[in-house]
Amino acid sequence: MRQLDRDVVIVGAGPTGLTAAHELTKAGRSVAVLEARDRVGGRTWTGEVDGATLEIGGQWISPDQTALYALLDELGIDTYARHREGSSVFVDHDGNRRVYDGEDFPVGEETVRQIHRLVEVMDRYAAEIDPDLPWAHPEAKQLDTISFHHWLREQVDDPVAVDCVGLFIAGGMLTKPATSFSALQALLMAASAGSFSHLVDEDFILDRRVVGTMQGVSQALAARLGDDVVFLDNPVLRLEWTAEGVVAHGADVVVRARRAILAVPPNLYGRVSYEPALPRTQLVAHQHQSMGLVIKVHAVYDRPFWREAGLSGTAFSPTSTVQEVYDNTFHEDARGTLVGFVSDEKADAVWALDEDARRKVILDDLALFLGDEAREPQVFYLSDFGSEEWTRGAYATSFDLGGLHRFGPSQHDPVGPIFFASSDLAGAGYQHVDGAVRMGRRTAARIVAELDG
Ligand code: FAD
Repeated sequence: MRQLDRDVVIVGAGPTGLTAAHELTKAGRSVAVLEARDRVGGRTWTGEVDGATLEIGGQWISPDQTALYALLDELGIDTYARHREGSSVFVDHDGNRRVYDGEDFPVGEETVRQIHRLVEVMDRYAAEIDPDLPWAHPEAKQLDTISFHHWLREQVDDPVAVDCVGLFIAGGMLTKPATSFSALQALLMAASAGSFSHLVDEDFILDRRVVGTMQGVSQALAARLGDDVVFLDNPVLRLEWTAEGVVAHGADVVVRARRAILAVPPNLYGRVSYEPALPRTQLVAHQHQSMGLVIKVHAVYDRPFWREAGLSGTAFSPTSTVQEVYDNTFHEDARGTLVGFVSDEKADAVWALDEDARRKVILDDLALFLGDEAREPQVFYLSDFGSEEWTRGAYATSFDLGGLHRFGPSQHDPVGPIFFASSDLAGAGYQHVDGAVRMGRRTAARIVAELDG
């Protein structure tokens, strides 16, 4: 067992933990990062599957994600635009397929009007909400104690409009049924991206990708940290603490440090045994943040055949198993890659199938959207973060109904020398790599100020 003495021990080598380590090192502090997995990157993860490079985890960057862009600049990493030329496809509640251009779903004039009304209301609230302090909004309690679905139904009397709007935040972002989280949680998601209009605009929210891969950002950070800083295969299951510091117990490394950053998703805080136990506030609050569930579908073809039909590869349906699809062709790859998403209860149903049936139901949807050739991918792969012990779902955690205004205000409070940081606790960039970078920086700055003071 190695024994180390450092200023700060960081639990988790995802983008949050590694950004914090990078900033602390630049500030002249010594760090050790203990990581449970045999790799860095956390929910950003790139795999080589049957000769194709796949972004199994996080990948897209939107123009407002300036903290991540600044980090990419610092690391000398470029980005490239997602392919988006061509028409989109929408499959409606009756299974009818429509090819369309522009921003509005082809759902009939009155429903489009109702969707615009909902977007306007969401934008108005999002402009009023400080993503760092959503609980400070005057209507916070009211908005946090009604489900997003029921709140949308209060705004308009058009179930199709409600499903179309719900698709972007429920299925598309929080990856939980819209009945299970609050309107305030949905509005935080919108405020964190600048506006709800940004979230419904795939050209904004899924704007660019990293040349190399998103996991490569974490790998570049780890490389800069040098030897004897990041320790893989070292889950921290025991954390002793006093007012003066901590002792973090990994599998073969024990780190004594003045401060600790728990840079893991909040649903995993309870995996660590704290000695003494954390105070009541944290013990109770931590039980109210849970991961959503989404399957990221990857299908690679000999060429991006949908482009030949004038299609962009973008497709939506609030009712089918795969609810969104995009052209996800890898940088300078002659092959064509589609990515699709199966969320929350639909993901439960898909995982309940055997492998052949699962593949069929997903490829049937891709074929309905983009043509029969979609049935025969060269590579087919499903990201399964729900089976990953050190994540347990995707994309991120959110509070249960009523939890955000009740427990959110204490989520950034350290407990003695222990700080909590992850993209799940971010305001701007909430649930995104950008939020992870912001939280890593902010937490490092708080610790430097404390240690200097
Ligand atoms: P994580 O990335 O989860 O890192 C936490 C680390 O802590 C992990 O490495 C974990 O192994 C480790 N750990 C956990 N417990 C312990 C322990 N007890 N001891 C030691 N180590 C521990 N974001 C975007 O910006 N754009 C996207 O397109 C996007 N798409 C996504 C798609 C998927 C399928 C998923 C899963 C996520 C996606 N995200 C996306 C979200 C993004 O990946 C996360 O917001 C980001 O990775 C969070 O970084 P983090 O460091 O806070 O947490």
